[in-house]
Amino acid sequence: MKGLNLLIAILIVSVSSYSYAGPNKGKFSRGKGNRNVQVQELTVEEQENLLFMREEEKLARDVYLTLGEYFETNVFNNIASAEQKHMDSVKGLLDKYMLTDPVSDDTRGAFINQEFAEFYYSKTGDEITIKEAILTGILIEETDILDLQKAIELTDKPDIQNVYENLLRGSRNHLRAFVRKLESMGIVYDALKLDQSVANAIVDSPTERGSSKRKGNKGRR
Ligand code: ZN
Ligand code: ZN
Repeated sequence: MKGLNLLIAILIVSVSSYSYAGPNKGKFSRGKGNRNVQVQELTVEEQENLLFMREEEKLARDVYLTLGEYFETNVFNNIASAEQKHMDSVKGLLDKYMLTDPVSDDTRGAFINQEFAEFYYSKTGDEITIKEAILTGILIEETDILDLQKAIELTDKPDIQNVYENLLRGSRNHLRAFVRKLESMGIVYDALKLDQSVANAIVDSPTERGSSKRKGNKGRR
């Protein structure tokens, strides 16, 4: 009967993996046969990082949308629309790997991760000054850079790495934009989370364009 029990167990696991990604997904790796229908399985860490990044991009979008309502500068609204694209590209990966989207409520300030919710409300009070708002942007982008670098190291999936690299390039550009704004107000930039030398190297290099898909793919602009 052992064989039958095992078969039932496998059936249950494979059925449930269509509704959500169970923690045991990685154990049932298939052979090379049906590559085109089979999506590679993710480790629990890879799954958690995708869910985290989806909400972290939402946090950036939500904060910038709200700050964009307070101040004349369009730096917040411009970057908020980039963050929406970042959210969308992580969502593409969630769909591909059949993970349940943590963003079931897309309203501003709604998060599964309570640290994000607290951060959102602590940084978007209406008494905030423009300087504080810009520093919030800098804090978000530096944090994103560190989190994305970590997430890239913790996956070997080229599609996920590619999305993270694109997000990372976006974050470096956003950091440049916020620091430019800060300096235009006569304030010296002190890095909040990055090493100052790393931060300076980013800020002192030009805005990066395009997607990093593959080298040699430069034909179309
Ligand atoms: Zn982003
Ligand atoms: Zn950003």
